[in-house]
Amino acid sequence: MGIDLTVNDFNAKGGINKGKNDDNINKNEVASDVEGELIKSIYMNCISENYNGIDAIIDKEYTRDDIIKDKKERECRRKWLIKDYLAPLLSMKVNYPGICKNNCVSFGIMKIFCSLVINEFKDRIMYKDLQVTSEGPILTLVINGDVCNIKRRVIGIEENHILGKYIDIEVYNSDGTKVNRKNLGFKPKKCYMCDEELSDCINDKRHDVNEMKQCIKNELEKYLKNNEFKN
Ligand SMILES: [Zn+2]
Repeated sequence: MGIDLTVNDFNAKGGINKGKNDDNINKNEVASDVEGELIKSIYMNCISENYNGIDAIIDKEYTRDDIIKDKKERECRRKWLIKDYLAPLLSMKVNYPGICKNNCVSFGIMKIFCSLVINEFKDRIMYKDLQVTSEGPILTLVINGDVCNIKRRVIGIEENHILGKYIDIEVYNSDGTKVNRKNLGFKPKKCYMCDEELSDCINDKRHDVNEMKQCIKNELEKYLKNNEFKN
């Protein structure tokens, strides 16, 4: 499973700057195509060869209320899945700031980590699903295994990958409780703009959203450039 998103791919098509307020309609259309193709390739690589078009919702204009609503829906789905499978559940999303979380950058990061995470748990995966909502792209896995072991492996991915700070991988036990880093004796996740705890920086809105977006975009570009010839 290679990463076929390249730097050119995403610079040429407008990257994160495409925005819904962009006057350049052609640029929007092209960027939107790229996003559609990106999410399709993640889906077909990681979930199923039968793609049924989740890109249709990418263009939707979201609000803060949508994000709250979608988060609640995701919680409900999570509870049902855990009840159905009686096994630990993993939920992965991109730590992307602001209201519009669906773009080449968040999808590019998702593509890299979907492959990694699915490869990590391989045949232990009982259920897998990729969704795109106002929360951004979200991977859900139900995994047959020890929940602490799963969380440790997830922390390993988050800590060892150069882009690991940009994803958020939650792990829930088969009784529905969330397993935190603290529970396993690990330090909380650090912010990617400063050295403080990420959750504090997000809650207190300590950093400028555009600066954060630029930071993620730069890091992804750098990563793709460095890894371009290795694929
Ligand atoms: Zn910070």
